[in-house]
Amino acid sequence: MNLKGKKILIVGAGISSFAAARITKKAGAEVVLSDAKAESDIQADFTEMRELGVGLVFGPQQESLLDGVDAVIVAPAVPVAIPLVQKAYARGIRVLSEVELAQELAQSPILAITGTNGKTTTTTLTGLLMETKFPKEKVGVAGNIGVPLSETALKIGADGCIVAEISSFQMEGSKHFHPHIAAVLNVTPDHIIRHKTMDVYQAMKEKIFAEQTASDFLVLNYDDARTRGMKERALSRVCYFSRREELAEGAFVRDNRLVIRWDGQEYPLCAVDELGIRGGHNVENALAASAIAFLAGCAPQAIVQVLKSFQGVEHRLEYVRTVAGVPYYNDSKATNTDSAEKALLSFPGHIILLAGGDDKMTDLTEFMGLVKERTDALILIGDAAERFHKEAVKNGYPESQIFEAGYSMEKAVSIAHDMAKEPQTVLLSPACASFDMYDNMAVRGRDFKRLVMAMPE
Ligand code: ADP
Repeated sequence: MNLKGKKILIVGAGISSFAAARITKKAGAEVVLSDAKAESDIQADFTEMRELGVGLVFGPQQESLLDGVDAVIVAPAVPVAIPLVQKAYARGIRVLSEVELAQELAQSPILAITGTNGKTTTTTLTGLLMETKFPKEKVGVAGNIGVPLSETALKIGADGCIVAEISSFQMEGSKHFHPHIAAVLNVTPDHIIRHKTMDVYQAMKEKIFAEQTASDFLVLNYDDARTRGMKERALSRVCYFSRREELAEGAFVRDNRLVIRWDGQEYPLCAVDELGIRGGHNVENALAASAIAFLAGCAPQAIVQVLKSFQGVEHRLEYVRTVAGVPYYNDSKATNTDSAEKALLSFPGHIILLAGGDDKMTDLTEFMGLVKERTDALILIGDAAERFHKEAVKNGYPESQIFEAGYSMEKAVSIAHDMAKEPQTVLLSPACASFDMYDNMAVRGRDFKRLVMAMPE
């Protein structure tokens, strides 16, 4: 896309929009950024945008914003269903996402990872794996992980690789995103409020491989019916991964050992207990990342070294401290029941679970079944406490083992501390978003860790 003299409208403020504004402005475009909120209601600082000469329009988005516009770039937080974007489509104006802009700028292959859960872990691990093939400064890790993909694509230039974490929100405004290797880790209920149905949500995830051709690769979870079935719609070569079944081709576990079988050759990796990250879900993440790295040309021996040393990412089953023989884990990133279930399955039982927060209103039957099986106590916080309490009791969880901490993490931690004894484990795995009490899940996780670190022995 030649941007010189073009008029670009960016809809929705945010770090990726700022990146898109910087890039398009520097390339000679006339850029306007519009956000439906008032400036005072947005946390971002617009000084740099003003200094760059980006036009800023806050508040109600009139259709006239589209006059003379050559392309509209939508922020991931903005649903394409909003009237302004719909009108842009109706006028035949090109609508794209920031990841699509990245695609246009990229001179190195993009390895893109999506899924309901495990994206950040798999993306981070894949980035480290790719550093066994390319110099560190030629491996860009970006996207939903918090670093704008477009700027990373520019920075890496040619002869490197770009590992991209992609959310369904980022795919919504994308039409021509074309990663050389794409991976879909799983598709389970989340973000239904935005995407309305599971099928729409799945369709967003499928956009990640829609533009691929026979020379590309698609890594899919064989154990998940929704992702397994995606092969039928793929034009690229599929590499499945499975932690449950030995596959004719792909990445799998046999005799407790990770193995890649590809083009008639077998490459044993490491044993499951040699992985630096714990839990069955992390075996899946390790399989997926290994498959991506292998397809991208990394040597199996080098992959093994990284698999053994990678300790995971902050707020994902992160070990915090052991007090009086009881380990405390921070899994604040478990913002839905599926990931909280994964956490519950990662320990042998006797868990004291801290859960609750901003309720995603998904069905709790399965989750509560596991809570009943694996936990000794349930400590509830935030907006979700009431519904979680009712659902726990409805599913046969003893009332006497449920504790309410209101909107206080301090109280929740102190209740846990007072009751915890060996061989129990205290686990914060909220199964909820954090916005009722915190700015985001990272602030919640750090608050939990601060309180745990401050506890007396
Ligand atoms: P994402 O970036 O997709 O949110 P993360 O790697 O940050 O994923 O992990 C978030 C949480 O999801 C983890 O704390 C864990 O509980 C759960 N999780 C991680 N990997 C998987 C997986 N492969 N399948 C299901 N749940 C997972």
